[in-house]
Parts: sequence; C-alpha cells; structure tokens
Amino acid sequence: MLGFFLISGWSGSNPLLGAPNRQTGLEHLQGKIVVLDPGHGGGDPGTVGVGPTTEAENVLAIAWELKSLLERYGAQVIMTRQTDASASAGTQFDGERNGQLAARVAIANRSRGQIYISLHNDWHDNPQIRGTSVHYYKSQDLALAEVLQEHLVGHTKAVDLGVRRSNFYVLRNTSIPAALVEIGFLSNSEEARLLAKPSYRLEVALGLLAGINAYFAGEF
Ligand SMILES: [Zn+2]
Repeated sequence: MLGFFLISGWSGSNPLLGAPNRQTGLEHLQGKIVVLDPGHGGGDPGTVGVGPTTEAENVLAIAWELKSLLERYGAQVIMTRQTDASASAGTQFDGERNGQLAARVAIANRSRGQIYISLHNDWHDNPQIRGTSVHYYKSQDLALAEVLQEHLVGHTKAVDLGVRRSNFYVLRNTSIPAALVEIGFLSNSEEARLLAKPSYRLEVALGLLAGINAYFAGEF
C-alpha cells in the first residue's frame, strides 16, 4: 500500500522537492536509527560484471541516496563506509581474517542502530538470470527482510527472487534485526546497465525507503 502510494506520489516529480511527511505516508521514519552497510570497497570491488560500474560503486551510490532520503524524513543513518574505503581501515580489525566484515558488524552492534541493512549486487554464471532477493538469518531478521523485498520489488519491478535464509557473516553476527539485499545481477547486461544509472539507483533507494518505513510502521 505504501509502495503504491510512493510510486504514484513520486512519478514525474523530484522526490527531494516532495510533499511533507503526512502526504507521503513516510511518518514512521522520524527518530529511527538505521545502519546502512554498502558492501565491499577499498580494494575489494565486489562483483565486477558486464556493466560499466562495480558492485562496490553501485551500492555506495545507492546508500548515499537512501541516507539522504531517510534523513529527509527524520531518521538517523550510520554508514559502515562513506567512501571507496575498506570498512576495517584504521580499526582493530584491519588485516584480520573476515576483518572487513567484523568491522561492519562492530559498527552496527556498538551503535544505537535499530536495524542493519547490507547492500549488494548479485552474480550468476547464467547471464539470463536477473532479479532481486533479500537474505536473513536470525528469526528477528525475517520481518525486515520480507518488507524490504516486497517494497523493493514493488517499486523497481525487478524479478522477485524472494526472501531467503542465508548463513552470512554480517547477518549471523549482528545483534539487531538485519537484512542483506542483493539488488540485481551484474552478470545480466540489462541489470548491470540499470545499476550504473543514477535514476535507477534512486528508484532502488525509494523502494528501500518505503520498506524501512513500513517496517517501523509494523506493516508486515
Ligand atoms: Zn557483495
């Protein structure tokens, strides 16, 4: 419902010049604290697919779009990295096995963040495979994963690959509800091209924004 409202509300207008919270239905973000984790970075490009940009670049750009939208609606955002740097650079985890992941988890667990969302792009040997999935591990993650998938797919019209339970380090070790979002396949030429576009990255961020709002509204 909120997703539908957002789609109609945003179309043809600049979201940064959009209507006040009451009209957009995004009032549940006020005062919330969200940890955003753009995957990879700092010598780890993540997936380098068939498009012009890497996974690390795509998810950092999406995170910045989402950060500014969340802050616009009164949420606080903690980023595990803000530039093309390793999340562990300059920390006690630098050089450790899984250090980059441990640093991300530590940022989340030491913060006052209420939810943790890790952003990634996917890869498959079959270049025809496309779509979006959201992964969870702990039982407390499931509601967040489901609502993010629903709104993200509803907004981008990506192929719905569903919500999956995955034993990922950052999901297993975070102490707050956590989800890992696999936004499109960089092995698919169409999705790789879309993910390099600022307009598509904004659409992704708007879908995640609606999902986060619905989570805090208890609409799941
Ligand atoms: Zn990744």
